[in-house]
Amino acid sequence: MVNPATEQVVARIDQTSLPEADATIEAARRAFDSWRAVSPADRAALLRRFAETVDSHREELARLEVTNSGHTIGNARWEAGNVRDCLMYYSAAPERLFGRQIPVPGGVDITFKEPLGVVGVIVPWNFPMPIAGWGFAPALAAGNTVVLKPAELTPLTAIRLGELALDAGLPEHVLNVVPGAGSVVGERFVTHPDVRKVVFTGSTAIGKRVMAGCAEQVKRVTLELGGKSANIIFADADLEKAAAAAPMSVFDNAGQDCCARSRILVERSAYDRFMELLEPAVKALRVEDPASEQADMGPLISAAQRQSVAAYVPDDSDVAFRGSCPDGPGFWYPPTVLAGMSTSSPAFREEIFGPVVAVATFADEAEALRMANDTDYGLSGSIWTRDVGRALRVARGLESGNLSVNSHSSVRYWTPFGGYKQSGLGRELGPDAPDSFSETKNVFIATEE
Ligand code: NAD
Repeated sequence: MVNPATEQVVARIDQTSLPEADATIEAARRAFDSWRAVSPADRAALLRRFAETVDSHREELARLEVTNSGHTIGNARWEAGNVRDCLMYYSAAPERLFGRQIPVPGGVDITFKEPLGVVGVIVPWNFPMPIAGWGFAPALAAGNTVVLKPAELTPLTAIRLGELALDAGLPEHVLNVVPGAGSVVGERFVTHPDVRKVVFTGSTAIGKRVMAGCAEQVKRVTLELGGKSANIIFADADLEKAAAAAPMSVFDNAGQDCCARSRILVERSAYDRFMELLEPAVKALRVEDPASEQADMGPLISAAQRQSVAAYVPDDSDVAFRGSCPDGPGFWYPPTVLAGMSTSSPAFREEIFGPVVAVATFADEAEALRMANDTDYGLSGSIWTRDVGRALRVARGLESGNLSVNSHSSVRYWTPFGGYKQSGLGRELGPDAPDSFSETKNVFIATEE
């Protein structure tokens, strides 16, 4: 494992082989028999203990993420806290996973929520802790056992979370962390018949492959994939506020965020003023050692990622302005604002997954909607306007799962999260997540003599 801010090797982790992955899946399957039988109150208490253990190791987990992933320390603390919060929130689920009694003639009809079995969670490198927690917390609460595969580049916090689960008293093999290659361990989650559901977060290309593989066994699947979200700014908006907030809506986590608002669409009459306000906001960003308390942005995850991002900004690009970044070791790339490019250019259409944003203008509300929806993705987006009617009309018109008005917030552990179109399938988080880790069983009991 390499520290992306220094390029120094920080750890070496053995990759799980196929036979080892099979052995872990089998152990998780055996553990399922007893985990599902743990009483709801006891399962809840164990999840609360796990949450408390994560909380007491929050700083350690955050420092580990800074070192392994180059996240700013402020973000990494939030991420570790998010795992704690997910565990605490879903610790309230076991006693509330009840079915229904449905009126029928000749008897009583009741439904039960039953766990699926072993759930495979496949995590990308951009948010190693939260995305792991969004999968394992509701899955465990619903009575499943979990095999979790972190991304090849960023396994350290997941491995530590697995140890903390045991420290908190979760039985062996209820939460199993299996670091390894996507093509080996990840694919095995898809093909192994004892893995009854796959939760995959990652690129749309691999997500399609996972979905096709799961179809073979009609395996349940949740997909959280890419995005190319729009930040729509109407002329009647508070432009100062919109411009101040725009940089971190795309450059947070160095743009390696599926919710990044990587297209800014500005109403033409407000364009000059908006750009005038955006430039100092971008230039003020502190791109520096992510361990620094003041850092707004750290490096990219790898040299390969930097190369891929840079390919979207060839020398003849329409760069409006850029922020700064350190020289020397580390996979640094400056926050970059493109403007005036064709809306058919790759930088405007494709997910860059780096600190590059493309700005374009629109004439009216109808054109804003058309441009924002002109993408295969549909994950997040923002609408800036003082007109509440318009805010709601545009929010309802956007083909996207997570929208914010006069704000860029997308993720709360207690509200649903997921994508339209090729951004995903199913929803994570929120009150209904345990349902997506449960089967509904219907039982009819005849009462007639
Ligand atoms: P990726 O698709 O390359 O890898 C994601 C995970 O899948 C990794 O753990 C990888 O090892 C595994 N994997 C690779 N090949 C596999 C296979 N054949 N079978 C099963 N698993 C396999 O994506 P990445 O580059 O790690 O992550 C970046 C992508 O993730 C971006 O496109 C981003 O938009 C997306 N993402 C989406 C969300 C969301 O919630 N929608 C959140 C974070 C990231």
